[in-house]
Amino acid sequence: MAAQQYDPQNVFAKILRREIPAKIVYEDAHALAFHDVRPQAPVHVLVIPKGAYLDWPDFAARAPDAEIAGFLRAIAETARLLGVEAAGYRVLANIGVDGGQEVPHLHMHIFGGRKLGRMVPQAG
Ligand code: AMP
Repeated sequence: MAAQQYDPQNVFAKILRREIPAKIVYEDAHALAFHDVRPQAPVHVLVIPKGAYLDWPDFAARAPDAEIAGFLRAIAETARLLGVEAAGYRVLANIGVDGGQEVPHLHMHIFGGRKLGRMVPQAG
């Protein structure tokens, strides 16, 4: 269980409640996918579970198996809809301070549309 409490006022919770706009790519019972507001690649989309989970460890600990399976399938389906499946893409989750997670609702980044280069940039 994560030490931090889930904050229902985080920006992705607001997107889920349609309180702020997002460019939605895909939605199903378990997940919502939308374009990142500050894209770092030609394709940069975020996929979030609909449940209130802080991060990957919280999701792994608390989510029912069906939600975990549904979330993973939604990531693959979103990439397929974005047209990046054939050329390839990257899926990434930032976790905690060292991971650089900014928004405290679990999200997976999908990057694509160009060769993505080094997996982990040099520190500094
Ligand atoms: P992370 O550092 O993994 O927490 O990534 C958070 C991401 O959320 C960043 O890439 C931001 O550009 C993105 N972001 C923040 N606010 C919004 C928003 N309102 N709509 C879409 N993307 C957002």
